[in-house]
Amino acid sequence: MSTPFLPLCRPAIIEEDIQAVADVLRSGWITTGPKNAQLEQKIMDHTGAKHAVALSSATAGMHLLLYAMGIGAGDEVITPSMTWVSTVNLITLMGAKPVFVDVNVNTLMTTAELIEPLITDKTKLIIPVHYAGAALDLDAIYALGERYNIPVVEDAAHALGAEYQDVPVGRQGTCIFSLHAIKNITSAEGGIFTTDNAQLAERIRRLKFHGLAVDTFDRETQGRAPQAEVAEPGFKYNMPDICAVLALGQMSRIAEITQKRTELALYYREQLAEIEGITPLSVPSYQHKHCWHLLIIRVDATVFGIDRNEVIELFKTKGIGAGIHFKACHTQKYYREHYIEKFGKILSLKNTEKNSEQICSLPLFPDMSVNDVNRVVNTLKNLSGKNK
Ligand SMILES: *Cc1c(COP(=O)(O)O)cnc(C)c1O
Repeated sequence: MSTPFLPLCRPAIIEEDIQAVADVLRSGWITTGPKNAQLEQKIMDHTGAKHAVALSSATAGMHLLLYAMGIGAGDEVITPSMTWVSTVNLITLMGAKPVFVDVNVNTLMTTAELIEPLITDKTKLIIPVHYAGAALDLDAIYALGERYNIPVVEDAAHALGAEYQDVPVGRQGTCIFSLHAIKNITSAEGGIFTTDNAQLAERIRRLKFHGLAVDTFDRETQGRAPQAEVAEPGFKYNMPDICAVLALGQMSRIAEITQKRTELALYYREQLAEIEGITPLSVPSYQHKHCWHLLIIRVDATVFGIDRNEVIELFKTKGIGAGIHFKACHTQKYYREHYIEKFGKILSLKNTEKNSEQICSLPLFPDMSVNDVNRVVNTLKNLSGKNK
């Protein structure tokens, strides 16, 4: 192939980041240590969160949260089916019931109005998802949680750098961010748990490392006293410093990274507007700052001529990577086969199901050029009407 492969994403890593990882490797201390403490501080500075705990993944953060909240058999947790499977898997593994809430058909985000009818006396937690880099309409969702006295935890895996009503996502409540390789800021694998609840932060910090008791020295340096004892049985979900330092470098450039993604996304949206049968997600009208994690289009096969899966296949033959974020959880094998028998009927998720068939994520990463965007858009234009 003459043209190089254009991936769906590519981490925004520069020479200095590679040097910083090498320095950690040479330092003799490669696992959890001072770089974790610096990363946590950087996240707190950026988001305004009161507490931040670095973890091995966002999935680990979700596990620790559900465990810390004592979520288990007989409990219900409301979350969208249009999310990454990790949340739904963990709710299920804890023995609780994932209650799927539909999403707005054009933003893929859930709303207080959609959540409210699903609340029962078994509802223990609501986990809405900031989607693709846009922010949820948090005020309404938090107000709902307060009215019913049900905690809300934000899945902010896509939302590092996003703001709601001029406030960074992460400043209020409890949020779980992901630093997985596809995300805007990455440590290869990693997650950050932020909260304004000091007790919860302390518990998560303890649970992430065998349940060993945490003191001030641990909090500030991530070094644990050799005398530390098990305060309760815990897990092993800490982040190594070779990963933490990688995210640390990107965090110092987060404004620039978000700016580049934004410019590319806006240019994409301008170009895509001309293609019939292709509809990008809508940007919510309330005050927020989008961090453009994903550039998602919907392919309407009846107008475009070919369906989403064919588009992805044909993109592949042209050397362009594309993705699906996400295939609705309730349509995946295990949940399709076992949900009803285990938990009963799934209420209507028509916006989720429609999008699950049509969504396609296009390449978007800071080091892309306008020419790369043109290449994707022109390829899409050439595919249009293929089977007509
Ligand atoms: C990536 C992602 C997660 C999980 O993040 P990991 O760090 O890979 O565990 C959770 N929720 C959403 C919406 C995600 O996109």
